[in-house]
Amino acid sequence: METDILIVGSGVAGLFCALHLPRQYRVLLLSKDALDRSDSYLAQGGICVLPEAADEDAFFEDTMRAGHYENNPDAVRTMIRSSRGVIDELIAAGVSFARRGEELLFTREGGHSRPRILFHEDITGREITSKLLARVRALPNVTLLPHTTMLDLIEEDGRCRGAVLRDASGALLTVSAQYTVLACGGIGGLFRHSTNYRHLTGDALAVCLRHGVPLEHPDYIQIHPTTLYSEKPGRRFLISESVRGEGAVLLGRNGERFADELLPRDRLTAAIRAQMEKEGSQFVRLSLLPLGREKILSHFPHIYSRCLEEGYDVTREPIPVVPAQHYFMGGVKVDLDGCTSLPRLYAVGETSCTGVHGANRLASNSLLESLVFARRAALHLSEHYRADTAPLPPVDLSPYADARALAETNKKLILTEIERVQTR
Ligand SMILES: Cc1cc2nc3c(=O)[nH]c(=O)nc-3n(C[C@H](O)[C@H](O)[C@H](O)COP(=O)(O)OP(=O)(O)OC[C@H]3O[C@@H](n4cnc5c(N)ncnc54)[C@H](O)[C@@H]3O)c2cc1C
Repeated sequence: METDILIVGSGVAGLFCALHLPRQYRVLLLSKDALDRSDSYLAQGGICVLPEAADEDAFFEDTMRAGHYENNPDAVRTMIRSSRGVIDELIAAGVSFARRGEELLFTREGGHSRPRILFHEDITGREITSKLLARVRALPNVTLLPHTTMLDLIEEDGRCRGAVLRDASGALLTVSAQYTVLACGGIGGLFRHSTNYRHLTGDALAVCLRHGVPLEHPDYIQIHPTTLYSEKPGRRFLISESVRGEGAVLLGRNGERFADELLPRDRLTAAIRAQMEKEGSQFVRLSLLPLGREKILSHFPHIYSRCLEEGYDVTREPIPVVPAQHYFMGGVKVDLDGCTSLPRLYAVGETSCTGVHGANRLASNSLLESLVFARRAALHLSEHYRADTAPLPPVDLSPYADARALAETNKKLILTEIERVQTR
């Protein structure tokens, strides 16, 4: 198989990148599962934007403070200054955000000093990603390949030449690509409790480790303080931070508040864990009652109905919540144009580390980061595109035959690297 540009991932990062590539290039866009089964679809709370020029320093400071000042300040400024343009593009692509009359409505989440988050009910990710996917489907130069997994990169003479894939039928194949963009999302599938899709297992990190492409901060893993407690296996259901931003309160066993609900995620997680330890309990409670029934049903209809399915009526009673793995601040080390250390290999979205989030992500900055830097990567790639006419080197496919063993090896590789960095 042959293409000009290979994009691995159909979340917002992969899709937005595809939309910004010149139409003369053939693009192959893969997804390990169905095209709409990405974490981008799951985003609930919203997407940050600079609401007015005067807010730039405060938005910058909130992002830096949440990230413990370990953020890359240039990346943060770039993201904030590009935010209006990205949002305008989304609106032009048909994305609808909540409004009062003509005015966009802003909500607030933990760590934000003022409301600056655009939302679409509590399914912002689905609204954005479905509209982008529809646009990409309409592009004649893009071929979409769902249920196709990238297993490895093909490297020759110090540059990326394509990838080894397993297709929907289980067959192994190679794809020759002039450029490859990793947009593989996070690592939640490696953890027992996570809000992420189970198939997001950090594959891009494993292949980069195998090829000596450096990662940055692989130990910076965000735990979300409030996911619905359940004893069932599988993905944990997120109770969006914006619920707390709108007034929901955390309660201990005796109905007492024990923390400021709008603390940054890492500090609130620590407070919840301390409370659980003190009580010897598996969860704490979150009460949405202060919001009132009308607000719950209009702003959080998805959370309402999902909790109802689990046996809780959030308009009448508090729900049990527990922290779970949620987001990966680390990733494949990239510059502000998504370039990795390996020529012709880019990384964008949650898989990459631009340094925007530092040690802890500020709520609703991740969709924005994915979009801003995916667009920059597409523009950089387009400007520097050069065709390489050398034929693809032969690849021995036998090491990829056993899918389960490969997944285990990948997992071990990533977890060992995380441990190595943690104990450094
Ligand atoms: C429950 C939940 C709620 C969230 N809420 C918000 C929010 O309100 N605001 C916000 O800003 N962020 C939120 N986030 C985070 C945000 O959704 C993600 O960080 C962002 O969408 C990541 O986009 P992405 O394109 O990088 O990755 P994803 O959307 O996760 O897409 C990854 C893609 O890569 C593919 N892939 C992975 N490995 C392979 C492989 N080996 N071969 C082929 N394909 C592969 C997957 O199939 C998928 O298509 C939330 C996340 C979750 C889980």
